[in-house]
Amino acid sequence: MKNETRPTVALVAHDNKKPDLVAWCKHNKKLLENYRLIATGTTGKLLNEETGLDVVRLQSGPLGGDLQLGAQITEGGVDFLIFLWDPLESQPHDPDVKALLRIAAVWNIPVACNRATADYIFTSRLLQEKYDRDLPNYTDYLSRRDEK
Ligand code: PGA
Repeated sequence: MKNETRPTVALVAHDNKKPDLVAWCKHNKKLLENYRLIATGTTGKLLNEETGLDVVRLQSGPLGGDLQLGAQITEGGVDFLIFLWDPLESQPHDPDVKALLRIAAVWNIPVACNRATADYIFTSRLLQEKYDRDLPNYTDYLSRRDEK
């Protein structure tokens, strides 16, 4: 059951990176229990089976799961993204991968694309405080048509 008070961590790994993500989640299981976890379909199933963590599963990435995550980021429902994408293999859903990374940048979400960055994020002293993520002000962007 979703606990609305917990921050949300989104988890995605391409196939060659899934073992890395499973290992990282096992190593950080106690910590991750303090978060609501969501993942693309295959990643979430694997994490649930291999770690016992409760993971909300979306559609598989190539079938739209990355875009579902992007939509949740846009709606303010994601606080962290761990996305272990594979730099050595092209993906059929590469536009979706790019879209997910782009929308995380648009909304100033902390993103880890490798285990080292995930380690740095989840050992940050900022986790102990109430952190107000700076939300970009898109007012000028949104009103640009008014100026013409
Ligand atoms: P998957 O999707 O978890 O369903 O394998 C990951 C991805 O976006 O490639």
